[in-house]
Amino acid sequence: MRKPLVAGNWKLNGTLASNRQWASAVSPPPSVDVVVCPPAVYLPQMLDVLQGTQVLVGSQDASEHGSGAFTGEIAASMLDELGVNYVIVGHSERRSLFAESDQRVAAKFTAVAQAQLTPILCVGETEEEREAGQTEAVVQRQLSAVFDVADKGLWQNAVIAYEPVWAIGTGRTATPEMAQAVHKTIRDMLTEALGEDSAQQVRLLYGGSVKPDNAKALFEQNDIDGGLVGGASLKAEDFMAIVAAAEE
Ligand code: PEP
Repeated sequence: MRKPLVAGNWKLNGTLASNRQWASAVSPPPSVDVVVCPPAVYLPQMLDVLQGTQVLVGSQDASEHGSGAFTGEIAASMLDELGVNYVIVGHSERRSLFAESDQRVAAKFTAVAQAQLTPILCVGETEEEREAGQTEAVVQRQLSAVFDVADKGLWQNAVIAYEPVWAIGTGRTATPEMAQAVHKTIRDMLTEALGEDSAQQVRLLYGGSVKPDNAKALFEQNDIDGGLVGGASLKAEDFMAIVAAAEE
């Protein structure tokens, strides 16, 4: 049995005041794991205001390096020191806008998992790739880069978010059947790489314009264990409605 997980990715949004208000309005049920990923500068604030609640805190990124001359970067061990539990790696915006390669994402995954944090590894195809029938090949390439460097033990708590790029921030959501088909393919790839038992433990989130009105149908699919939510996570009320949709 995989416990549902709903993670909010705030991207480049928030203020000290609005963050505090959000935190006071979010109280998830114990049957769902809930994570919020604010901009890095707000991590200490969110860890503070969410202390003692069910909401865990995640980072939107981490460096693949542990320390050194990497101006602007944040090491996984530093996030761990703060009390952060989850780290998104390989979000499509980082891959496309900041030119993160599959290999760099794989190195980040490894660094995060080695620091005992839970990586949320994002994979997914662009619209062009889907239209060219390359969805499976793209996801396989993105996952293989990680299988190549991260041994089985590092997958123990890992989470994968399938986020079709054409559905992120566009209001266009994959249908539950489309999303389930890719999730099943990912589960099969995990089984081949890690074995049945480990593959069954990895939580697979869907991301891409998840909203209160489409979340339930998505989360009901066999291999969809929750969601990675961008825009709709900014409003506490919408985020809570999505969390409620993940309740069993
Ligand atoms: C995301 O940022 O990971 C995301 C899925 O965004 P949105 O929900 O806004 O499409």
